[in-house]
Amino acid sequence: RLKDTYPLYLNNKAAQPNTDLEVTDKFTGEVAFRTALATPEIIDRAIAGAVHATEPMAKLAGYERQAVLQHCVDRFKERFDELAYALCVEAGKPIKDSEGEVTRLIDTFRIAAEESVRMYGEVMPLDISARAKGYQSIWKRVPVGPCSFISPFNFPLNLAAHKVAPAIAVGCPFVMKPASKTPLGAIIMGEVLAETDLPEGAFSILPATRDGADLFTVDERLKLLSFTGSPVVGWDLKARCGKKKVVLELGGNAAVIVDRDADLEDAIERIIFGAFYQSGQSCIGVQRIVIHENVYDRFRDMLVEKTGSLIAGDPKDRDTFIGPMISEGEAQRLKGWIDEAVDGGAKLLTGGGCKGNMLEATLLEGVHKDAKALNEEAFGPLAILQPFSDFDEALAEVNRSTFGLQAGVFTRDLFKMFDAWDRLEVGGVVINDVPSYRVDNMPYGGVKDSGLGREGIKFAMEDMTEIRNLVIRRN
Ligand code: NAD
Repeated sequence: RLKDTYPLYLNNKAAQPNTDLEVTDKFTGEVAFRTALATPEIIDRAIAGAVHATEPMAKLAGYERQAVLQHCVDRFKERFDELAYALCVEAGKPIKDSEGEVTRLIDTFRIAAEESVRMYGEVMPLDISARAKGYQSIWKRVPVGPCSFISPFNFPLNLAAHKVAPAIAVGCPFVMKPASKTPLGAIIMGEVLAETDLPEGAFSILPATRDGADLFTVDERLKLLSFTGSPVVGWDLKARCGKKKVVLELGGNAAVIVDRDADLEDAIERIIFGAFYQSGQSCIGVQRIVIHENVYDRFRDMLVEKTGSLIAGDPKDRDTFIGPMISEGEAQRLKGWIDEAVDGGAKLLTGGGCKGNMLEATLLEGVHKDAKALNEEAFGPLAILQPFSDFDEALAEVNRSTFGLQAGVFTRDLFKMFDAWDRLEVGGVVINDVPSYRVDNMPYGGVKDSGLGREGIKFAMEDMTEIRNLVIRRN
């Protein structure tokens, strides 16, 4: 059901300069389709196009920006099954999760359509002292200009949407580089945007090699880089970004605390989802489970039993919960960390087996505190159980990480909820659910090694604008 080849989108138009990028079906390993790789010359033309489109984009009225976004909502609804299938093939994402992502894509564009007519400013009296008597300020938001977007493989549609939709909502032209392993989601987004009457140069969607991708970082004509991907790459790009604004949505090793008063069955159901959904390839996937010692044994036994019964296999099969990882190399990398933890004294509670890019849902306990499996980002189907006796100790264990994206806490104690919210060093605390929980309008992002800035449409729109002030003297 996929085409053999797909174009890239250069200055709003489809172009097929080559078919150099081969994309595989992540379950069968066969070539699923081919698309073009943008050369540095093509990327340069796209950036020039975006510069050219800066003024016409800024001049679009709110209702015009809204109409473009609403067109996307309508077309994504019509193409729902096709989009879900594309994700299932190119990312190996189980079909039900792929459908979930398309639903979120539609939400993301719908929220942006609503927000696009709410770019409010403020009237501020300035008369705080005698020298400002008679003065007032009015400030508004203006688009920052051409933006550069780089997105990862694991949510090929919705994470691209978290950059594209707010850019259209504020009136910024952009060039986007999707992940080379999963470019199709963004390409189809380009196909839909090409049906609109956005000013020429408003968008380009360009799969690219590392060399080409470098222009997305270093070119001074681009005023903002919004990058979602791994911490190593993200922080390196920031160092080379020059004067651009930078938003980094990076990785983590998210933790969830299960307190002694938690509803264990409910917590386990959510934790299974948080740890193993999408084979754990989520930046907020549950990697560390910190459990009160009074309920530890019962929690562990129930979790091990449920984890052992998860259905793994072909992502196109509706019963599949665990599909393949993105590549055999990634599965082997994590398998190595699991073996290393076990060699260091950890107990393997379930899983651990690996064939090709299929790694079993794995639970460990007794992992040494310096082990990679505990401290680095696993980004795969691995969760580690740790007991605690005192809530302060649990908070400290969560904060021991160099990352800080989101954390979850299962408790019924109101004081502990607020304590966790105050003291956990993360971008968001989720009470009575997993850190993996995200709704697309909420502020979302990390602290420490996990990033800089926030997404969630309204918050991304703020980053994509500058405040322009007007001072008025009335004498
Ligand atoms: P990655 O860093 O390997 O790649 C991300 C993107 O950057 C891809 O498009 C890739 O082609 C590109 N890229 C890589 N090196 C580059 C370079 N030198 N110059 C320019 N572009 C470059 O990450 P990935 O494997 O695609 O995704 C997994 C990572 O993304 C994990 O660390 C995960 O936690 C993180 N992630 C974060 C969020 C979030 O919202 N915080 C969401 C999803 C994924």
